[in-house]
Amino acid sequence: MSKPLQKLPVALTSSTHPARLWSPEAEGRVRCHLSPRECNIPEGGVGFCGVRHNRGGELVTLNYGKSVAMTQENIEVEAVFHYAPGASILSLGNIGCMMACDFCHNWQTSQARLARDRDIHVYSSEQIVEYALRHDIKILSWTYNDPVVWHEFVMDTARLARKHGIKNLYKSAFYIGPQAVDELLEVIDIFSLSLKSMDADFYRKHTKGRLEPVLAAIKQVYAASKRPGGPHLELSNLCVTGRNDNIEDAVKTARWMLDHLDAEVPLHYVRFHPDYKYTQVERTDVGFLEAARLAAKAEGLKHVYLGNVLESASINTLCGECGKLLIERRGTLVVSEAASASCSGCGAPSPVVFPWNMDEQGKGGTDDRRPLDGAGRVDEELTTVHRFTDQVSALHIEQAREAQVSFQFLDVSGKSVGARQSSSCTRFLISKPNAQATSVQIAYGKGDVPQIFEVLDRAHFPTTQEQGSDCP
Ligand code: SF4
Repeated sequence: MSKPLQKLPVALTSSTHPARLWSPEAEGRVRCHLSPRECNIPEGGVGFCGVRHNRGGELVTLNYGKSVAMTQENIEVEAVFHYAPGASILSLGNIGCMMACDFCHNWQTSQARLARDRDIHVYSSEQIVEYALRHDIKILSWTYNDPVVWHEFVMDTARLARKHGIKNLYKSAFYIGPQAVDELLEVIDIFSLSLKSMDADFYRKHTKGRLEPVLAAIKQVYAASKRPGGPHLELSNLCVTGRNDNIEDAVKTARWMLDHLDAEVPLHYVRFHPDYKYTQVERTDVGFLEAARLAAKAEGLKHVYLGNVLESASINTLCGECGKLLIERRGTLVVSEAASASCSGCGAPSPVVFPWNMDEQGKGGTDDRRPLDGAGRVDEELTTVHRFTDQVSALHIEQAREAQVSFQFLDVSGKSVGARQSSSCTRFLISKPNAQATSVQIAYGKGDVPQIFEVLDRAHFPTTQEQGSDCP
């Protein structure tokens, strides 16, 4: 399946890079093997994803090195709860997608024709790795729209990052071909894979993809995860209001995992927010998510979590043997953790991987538990206050240069309810740390006015388009 060359942002069409995983076909056509869609693209056309182009009988990528603003976040926003808790990550997302979910919450970047030039940054692999090292960030996260369609750049950068001791996290809907998975297994340390449903009709109708290849690719990663030095794996199941927010579908996911993976693989039932073309419904009911979790645990899964839920004991990590609390969370923040290879209650191995020495747990960049030491800026010439709402408990702060920005959480009376923190990343996430916080005060230097973006859910990249605007 292919599309005619469409009107794409100039930033995409201005340069190309040779693609891999394709073969020539008759009459100058090419077939792309990156995703199971296997687009057969005529000369001059682009594939379904909008970012792989047949130029003169050869497949090229339009999005090599073209990313949304790289953003410092923490690993929990990627639905990874059992690897380096609280670790700082550098999130990178590009343009295009091999699926077309009508409920996508990153549609401004996943649908290439809707992307805007001003949201597209051009980075080299070296720039990204150097930036991560400078900000003491030990994990690159390939995320947002979907990294599958960025394959060549992901491979090149992830390989370079590994040479510098940086790990790679891959957050994806994973509609991907087996050869591409084999390549990723050479460079990716952590896979966070998102199942949209266990219903093949759901995939066909609402994502324009197919369920079976997704399941096959997950099994391929799982098999690799069982080998020595294999990657870490967690699964998410998005529960879309009125579509698959039913216990039968949720239990199907748990049963499939028990049949094809094992009871130790963490599963996250993720709350949906209305977006793109599916806005006429409410967010997923938290009561349903709690019931789904209990049902999955009754089936036999040991670690089942809720996603995009701020306050619930169901986002904490317990020992799978004795039930002792190992990691306490609030939303995507770690409140407390037992950073030990074994449970202090029963001695069973911890289900959580701590990949570094205990004294360097990868919490560089903005560390929500590290108070501002006073040695950095802050001349605090200007401040702005942003209020949280029922729907918004996290923000992206973006600035033009790496200036120090500090922030402090306030209660309804304006009193501080959290230690002041700071970051000098050009874009970074801040999350409401407790129930008392109703707003955050942001202090910045004169001439460094930051932009503020409301983050609705994890793995969500708000863009310069109006928040809440209707899609074209
Ligand atoms: S990545 Fe998938 S959607 Fe894009 S051109 Fe290749 S086969 Fe088509």
